[in-house]
Amino acid sequence: MPELPEVETIIRSLSSKLIGLEGSSFNFFFPGLLKNNDQDILQKLKGKKVIHLRRRGKWILIDFENNLSLVCHLKMTGQLLFIPSERPLDKHTHFILSFKDSRYELRFRDVRKFGSISCYPTPEVLKFLNLGPEPLRVSFSHFRKLFQGRRGRLKNLLLNQSFLAGIGNIYADEILFEAKLHPGLPVSLLEEEEFLRLWKAIRFILRMAIEYRGTSIRDFRDAEGQEGDFRNRLRVYGKESELCSRCGEEIERLRKGGRSSFFCPQCQVEKNRGID
Ligand SMILES: [Zn+2]
Repeated sequence: MPELPEVETIIRSLSSKLIGLEGSSFNFFFPGLLKNNDQDILQKLKGKKVIHLRRRGKWILIDFENNLSLVCHLKMTGQLLFIPSERPLDKHTHFILSFKDSRYELRFRDVRKFGSISCYPTPEVLKFLNLGPEPLRVSFSHFRKLFQGRRGRLKNLLLNQSFLAGIGNIYADEILFEAKLHPGLPVSLLEEEEFLRLWKAIRFILRMAIEYRGTSIRDFRDAEGQEGDFRNRLRVYGKESELCSRCGEEIERLRKGGRSSFFCPQCQVEKNRGID
């Protein structure tokens, strides 16, 4: 699933191309992609210019000049591609946004069909998304306060989008390895120095992943169809039985609640601290 670095990569490759273009037609081939609206609202975007592209968590926001925003989530396998209109359509293309005087169009391609598009008034759009702060913008003191009254396991909390927006399974594992913290550690047992280590690890991993233009495991492509390079920098995610780059121990895979976590049992060991 695309996470913060992948969505940021898409926004960066799309912004310069999309801003200033005027929407001309909107076509859904899979109407279920449009959530919370009927198609009438999209008529209001015809003849209107794109003025801004933004990322919030894993969401892509396309703001139009008439104070309406298209909001896209790629979920498992979604791709937002800006490609020449003459390129043949494949059966996984579910939405096309065409522009006046442009040979290119925006296509939403999604093999598993879990992705979504919605349209909201721009001033209210963030209210609908209900997201925690951006992990690369939150100060350490604000970050520290987010933990007040929180319970549960550390990795689960990192994945909670109303706690912090944008982190998913891949980067949670990489962040916890960088911070030398066990994914199953109860957050109530975190020590002061560990909050700082975690905050720094979040910034380090996400910034590096953006620099390498995200991770392509299977489906992720940027808006031009290019893969991201961070896959070669992963240190624990998907590396079960490989040797830890830091200590040489074998990376383990922990399965819980339908989700896998990859970690180093030596670097991220937490003796007598509530790990079962
Ligand atoms: Zn290790």
